[in-house]
Amino acid sequence: MSAVPRPTTKQRLLESLARLDPAPAVFADDEDLKPFETDGFIVRRATPLLAVLPESEAQAGAVVRLCRAAGVPVVTRGAGTGVSGGAIPREDGVLLVVSKMRRVLEVDPLARQAVVEPGVRNVQVSEAAAPAGLFYAPDPSSQSVCSIGGNVAENSGGVHCLKYGFTTHNVAAVRGFDGEGELLEVGSRALDGPGYDLIALVTGSEGNLMVITRVTVAWDSRAARKRCCSPRSMAAAPRSMTPSRAHARSSSAAGRPRSAWRRTKPSARACGARARAPSPRSPPSTPTTTRSTAPSRAAAFPRCSTA
Ligand SMILES: Cc1cc2nc3c(=O)[nH]c(=O)nc-3n(C[C@H](O)[C@H](O)[C@H](O)COP(=O)(O)OP(=O)(O)OC[C@H]3O[C@@H](n4cnc5c(N)ncnc54)[C@H](O)[C@@H]3O)c2cc1C
Repeated sequence: MSAVPRPTTKQRLLESLARLDPAPAVFADDEDLKPFETDGFIVRRATPLLAVLPESEAQAGAVVRLCRAAGVPVVTRGAGTGVSGGAIPREDGVLLVVSKMRRVLEVDPLARQAVVEPGVRNVQVSEAAAPAGLFYAPDPSSQSVCSIGGNVAENSGGVHCLKYGFTTHNVAAVRGFDGEGELLEVGSRALDGPGYDLIALVTGSEGNLMVITRVTVAWDSRAARKRCCSPRSMAAAPRSMTPSRAHARSSSAAGRPRSAWRRTKPSARACGARARAPSPRSPPSTPTTTRSTAPSRAAAFPRCSTA
């Protein structure tokens, strides 16, 4: 009689998962697994052995270690809006769905940081920041549903990223489990940390390097949001001032931390490209960036003030 490996592995995993304390939610029937067969890349689909929905970091780690011991591959899924097919499961594997891990764990308005679980939706991060007059800049169009874990894995972003940088520029630290089930933390909540800067490696790694369980996001201020490098104001910059220095000067004048300057550097570069073209109308004497809190300024640069 020939062995039937798939039900055996599945059964063994089910038993091991049931022994966890507390046991995570598990979907094992074909019908229950239907919603997990594909993501935003709907032309491909596959039914996983199981879909497991941990509610905590400890549970997620335990699931990864169980799968490792059983030799079963793991694919992580956030909200499943990815359009590159990264969250499509493997038929011989477990789909680890982090949508139940959706707590905002810590909020620090002074440091402009928050620690969130990976299943927190992008827009919730800004909602948590709003009472302090802050917001989370990366804004994929799917922000009302997509998860922060997925954003980090895909280095997602939208129009704000032209000014504030992508997810990688707005994340201070990422914590998660590697394929062995070992807990790793990359990045630092300090302005700069010792060792290699691995944030850029993990951000955009599409779930291949770790199961992300915690993300420390960096917030920007709503007031700073209205300060921008418009073509007109940048053209008025003294010629000796480089665009990035001009931007840094404006940022520090407003009391923004250095990390914020680092995060806004790409946008300063983007503005710099336009600033290098001199305007015959503007004398080179006025400040290089605008404080558009005054209504007249906001009206003068409507595109920037609503960014
Ligand atoms: C209508 C629509 C609009 C969109 N607009 C944009 C846009 O403007 N900009 C943009 O960049 N993208 C956009 N996207 C793509 C998508 O929303 C983003 O890539 C988003 O970041 C995916 O997040 P998610 O939670 O849905 O991740 P999922 O689709 O669940 O997963 C995406 C990838 O991330 C990995 N992953 C998810 N969670 C974790 C975790 N906790 N740990 C490790 N890996 C993980 C998965 O394995 C997979 O490889 C859009 C998609 C749709 C459907």
